[in-house]
Amino acid sequence: IRSNEAPPVLAPRRASRQIKVGKVLVGGDAPISVQTMTTTLTSDVNATLQQIAELTAAGCDIVRVACPSQDDADALPEIAKHSQIPVIADIHFQPKYVFAAIDAGCAAVRVNPGNIRQFDDQVGAIARAAKDAGVSIRIGVNAGSLDKRLLEKYGKATPEALVESAVWEASLFEEHDFHDFKISVKHNDPVVMVRAYELLAAAGDWPLHLGVTEAGPAFQGTIKSAVAFGHLLGQGIGDTIRVSLSAPPVEEVKVGQQILQSLNLRPRKLEIVSCPSCGRAQVDVYTLAEQVTAGLEGLTVPLRVAVMGCVVNGPGEAREADLGVASGNGKGQIFVKGEVIKTVPESKIVETLIEEAMRIAEELGEG
Ligand code: SF4
Repeated sequence: IRSNEAPPVLAPRRASRQIKVGKVLVGGDAPISVQTMTTTLTSDVNATLQQIAELTAAGCDIVRVACPSQDDADALPEIAKHSQIPVIADIHFQPKYVFAAIDAGCAAVRVNPGNIRQFDDQVGAIARAAKDAGVSIRIGVNAGSLDKRLLEKYGKATPEALVESAVWEASLFEEHDFHDFKISVKHNDPVVMVRAYELLAAAGDWPLHLGVTEAGPAFQGTIKSAVAFGHLLGQGIGDTIRVSLSAPPVEEVKVGQQILQSLNLRPRKLEIVSCPSCGRAQVDVYTLAEQVTAGLEGLTVPLRVAVMGCVVNGPGEAREADLGVASGNGKGQIFVKGEVIKTVPESKIVETLIEEAMRIAEELGEG
């Protein structure tokens, strides 16, 4: 019962130029992509490919792998060849690994100018090699590794300092007629990060990779990222996102997708509309919502399921959803597409909702 009309968004997308990260387009009118980074040793090809397969199944669009040693560089060809999603090699300190990653068939390379000595002298060679191979670059400026010259000038990693570093490095690539790069200016403070991206967005048409760096454990990091990304994406700023959590990367992918879905920047899939419960609740809403969420995990069709604790807002929300329950007096009224189809005892609410959800999903084409 969702209409085919495009759902409203908070602001038109900022006009950015488009680049390719392998088969994924970034910038312009390309869908905003979600990326993460593997946590395995890159040199362990099997473990890394296994994790990439799990991330791909979770809906990750692009994956980044660290490349701190020659063993890791040696593993890149195999990883790039067998990954189903584009692989970005993440390079700090050693320019030789940039060239190794390009030769290995990686879709893109992330370079951190602050961590590559005499980086500016290497830009021409990197640009030439990347252009010849059709590989794009991310200029990844980080507060924690800001160019020393800028740290001295600004005293700390201010938004202006991050942006000056990024714009300078961008100009070096552009001087070599290389334009296939995106930029990030990450900081662990969402306020500094937001300001930096706003300044950067106004300074050029580069596609932007959003990230709050070192955002923290799952709870804090999710909120920091949602607040910062929400503010920027809500202004149309941002072309690809990476949520950084001290948690497994699949969690980062799920949070990234949820942020985009919340802003109507990606079609909503399963959405549970559940009430917070209150003194009027006549069922255990928390358990009910958790059980329904767990029972429907992995469903890929758009489905809004309302789980409501009483008759105050229950029937209204349940009617608006594709599927819903309004509970009261030990029973649940089950709604499908706005109509009550049956009333079941409380003990049958979860299984009935899951049965009905599967039936609707099948009708919508999910086998
Ligand atoms: Fe409370 Fe009922 Fe609203 Fe849930 S639906 S929060 S139980 S009034």
